[in-house]
Amino acid sequence: MSAAGEQRALLEELASRGIRLTKQRRAVIEVIEESKQHLDAASLLALARKREPSLNRATVYRTIELLKGLRLVDELDLMHLDGEKHYYEVRSPHDRVHLACFRCGRVEEFTSSLFERLKAEITTLIGFEIRVVRLEVGGHCQTCAGSGASEPAEKPKPQ
Ligand SMILES: [Zn+2]
Ligand SMILES: [Zn+2]
Repeated sequence: MSAAGEQRALLEELASRGIRLTKQRRAVIEVIEESKQHLDAASLLALARKREPSLNRATVYRTIELLKGLRLVDELDLMHLDGEKHYYEVRSPHDRVHLACFRCGRVEEFTSSLFERLKAEITTLIGFEIRVVRLEVGGHCQTCAGSGASEPAEKPKPQ
C-alpha cells in the first residue's frame, strides 16, 4: 500500500542510485507502488505478470529483497490474519501502525507523532539506531467492535 505524493517514486529513487532494472523488475516495482492494498508475493506476481508475462517468482522475491535491503519497502505480517504470508508496502517518512481486525480482516493504517517520538526517544536514551520498526495491532475494528459476532471459522482475506 502506498501513500501518494509522500515519497520519491521508487523507480526514480533506484535510478538515482544507479540501479539498473530489467523490465520484469520494473513491473514488480510499479505494482507495489501503485497498489491500494497490502500485497503478498503471490498477488504481486499475479498482478505484475499482467504487465510482464515473462516474470517469474524468483524475480519477484529478488526484487523484494533488493527493495527491503535499500529500505524502500517494508515487510508486514498483518497479524497472520491469512496464514504465514508477508505483505509489502512502500516505506513512508512516517512509520504506520497497522491495525488488523480479527473479525472482518480489515487492515487500517494509523500514523502518530507519538510513535515518531517513541522512536526518537529510543535513539536518544539508549543510542539504538533504528533501521526498521514495525507495530502491528490485532483486535476488532470500529464496525466489528461490540457487534457480538464471533470470529469467523473461515479466516477472511486481509485488505
Ligand atoms: Zn500499510
Ligand atoms: Zn472488523
